[in-house]
Amino acid sequence: MTGTTGRVPKQEQEQASDEVTEVAPGILRAQLPIEFTGLGHVNCYVLEDPDGVAIVDPGLPGPSSFKVLRHRLSAAGIPIKRVHTVVVTHSHPDHFGGAGRVRHESGARIVTHQRFRLMWDPLEPPDVDVEDLPEVTEPVGHRFPWDPTPWGGERMAFSRRRKLAMQASRRFPRLMHAPVPTVRLSDADTISLGGRDWVSIHTPGHTDDHLCLYDPAGGVMLSGDHVLPTITPHVGGLSPLADPLATFMESLDKVAAYGDDVSVALPAHGHPFAGLTRRVEAIKQHHVDRLEQLRSAAEQIGRPATVAEFSRRLFSARVQGRMADSETFAHLEHLRQSGAMTRATDPSPYRYVLAD
Ligand SMILES: [Zn+2]
Repeated sequence: MTGTTGRVPKQEQEQASDEVTEVAPGILRAQLPIEFTGLGHVNCYVLEDPDGVAIVDPGLPGPSSFKVLRHRLSAAGIPIKRVHTVVVTHSHPDHFGGAGRVRHESGARIVTHQRFRLMWDPLEPPDVDVEDLPEVTEPVGHRFPWDPTPWGGERMAFSRRRKLAMQASRRFPRLMHAPVPTVRLSDADTISLGGRDWVSIHTPGHTDDHLCLYDPAGGVMLSGDHVLPTITPHVGGLSPLADPLATFMESLDKVAAYGDDVSVALPAHGHPFAGLTRRVEAIKQHHVDRLEQLRSAAEQIGRPATVAEFSRRLFSARVQGRMADSETFAHLEHLRQSGAMTRATDPSPYRYVLAD
């Protein structure tokens, strides 16, 4: 991971440890390996109560991750059959992946935010009453990750095998162990897990269905990918949200409002941390800086430029690529929607320039 540059991996990039540790009274942290967007592990939290256990974010799809999950739980003396609840913080594969398999074996309910959907599922989930939805744009809903990007840049490369797996998952969700939520929480609902009463906090931005859970009595926040300890969560432009960055910033304020009462935040990647408010401020500042960098890049370029051109000025060579472009797109769109930039869409690809 450190390679020849000697770069020290961030917490979130550390390889999964096989130790299961208690991170708050009655809450265990198991780490599952992932090789996904440069991260090394995902935290699967385990909350025990007299009826069994709830687990939060059971790792990537597929049998090998599930085998590790089974192994970690059994090291903690917990057979999969005891899992009565799987909470999925949001619709990314390193979080929802194992949910269907756990349900298949134990009959566990699958708890998500109300808006949970896989990116290739229809924008409006069937038979769900949708409320509290920030403004959305249609075209980017309901797509596969290798489909053309709205801004006309480079597409994401996927092996034929992974494409087939995702297509099959759309057509045969249960057969492919795709997660089908059985409990969809609304913002401010409460749910009892591990002997604690958790308040659901809808935190759209990283995805539009992101869910944090907050235990006010214990001062514990399960922060998912919304607030990570040392890397800034990805805010991409491939989102049904009209302005994912603005929505993300609002969601940061939403959790920061509880910040002083949170003694420990339990993120989906990296170690438990205190100082939630401080961390939120740092993440917000990062995006404010990014917007400023884009404005000055636009000034230097002095003509309409593509997302890829801006992206190369924002990101180091090591992290160039489609995810960096997607994040750049989200920032450029924020500047456009706030009136600081204008966009030409014809001819493709999109080009952005400072507004006069
Ligand atoms: Zn994520």
